[in-house]
Amino acid sequence: MSATDIPENAPEHCPGPTTEQAGTASACQGCPNQNVCATAPKGPDPDLPFIKERMDSVKHKILILSGKGGVGKSTFTSQLGFALANDENIQVGIMDVDVCGPSIPKIMGLEGEQIHQSLSGWSAVYVQDNLGVMSIGFMLSNPDDAIIWRGPKKNGLIKQFLKDVDWGDLDFMLVDTPPGTSDEHLSIIQYLKESGIDGAVIITTPQEVALQDVRKEIDFCRKVKIPIIGVVENMSGFVCPKCKGESVIFSPTTGGAKKMAEDVKIPFLGSIPLDPRIGKACDTGVSFLDEYSDSPACKAYLDIITEIKSSLTTQGNF
Ligand code: ADP
Repeated sequence: MSATDIPENAPEHCPGPTTEQAGTASACQGCPNQNVCATAPKGPDPDLPFIKERMDSVKHKILILSGKGGVGKSTFTSQLGFALANDENIQVGIMDVDVCGPSIPKIMGLEGEQIHQSLSGWSAVYVQDNLGVMSIGFMLSNPDDAIIWRGPKKNGLIKQFLKDVDWGDLDFMLVDTPPGTSDEHLSIIQYLKESGIDGAVIITTPQEVALQDVRKEIDFCRKVKIPIIGVVENMSGFVCPKCKGESVIFSPTTGGAKKMAEDVKIPFLGSIPLDPRIGKACDTGVSFLDEYSDSPACKAYLDIITEIKSSLTTQGNF
């Protein structure tokens, strides 16, 4: 049994929620989840072999994580997707599992698109031939609809995205996750356990309040044994598009992400400055990297993406 199967607040000697003893072992007495465990399906998830079969045709799976919302995680995921797909020989899929806040369709110019079904499963929505996206945002009749789902329903959707979507042969699958560490993270890790996750890229802003949550994210990755590709500091200084002068907006009071990365011994991938044109590109659904290719922020993105690719090369599997 892996660490992901046992909840953090489980009693000592918890047998694990999917074991035959779940809910009936002596350790379960008095546990608030006893009834849920006693009635939950036992044994390995029968869908896991189907997920593995689909995922075997995906070379690299990368999770994009953040401790907090609003730090630029979905923006980073989409720009990474655009940049990788600039090589027409590379096939890229983006899976948006931020079930309650799916912003990828908007950022990638796909708002209002719908998922189609074929004999081989659901089809992703394509930005271009080699860049497909899957998001719950495509299933809403109105983008302003709130999604109020409990864990099992969210997990069911994530499972469908992995099992029922005809992703085809992919070089990269980028998984945009919700902020923090929640059901969605545990599900994706559990479902991808057999086919393997290359690693996680963690996005943060420079302030200590954001870094505090990043440390939790790092601890989470270590507990569930997901390699950390590195941390990216976003909104790190402001470069005036006119005079090119730089000012600090979010002060790195404790040294920022670079120092934190050194302290906890994980790679620091680089910093991306604040640039209002990033927000504009995202709101209009175009690639910031293509639109503003001569900007310092674009250079920062591309340097970080090179670091990510070389980290995968070092792991010997790019
Ligand atoms: P998250 O996925 O972490 O919740 P988003 O990617 O949705 O965050 O970004 C939040 C907002 O910040 C968006 O409006 C986005 O366009 C903007 N943004 C992200 N990075 C930058 C940046 N470096 N400079 C300016 N705006 C940014």
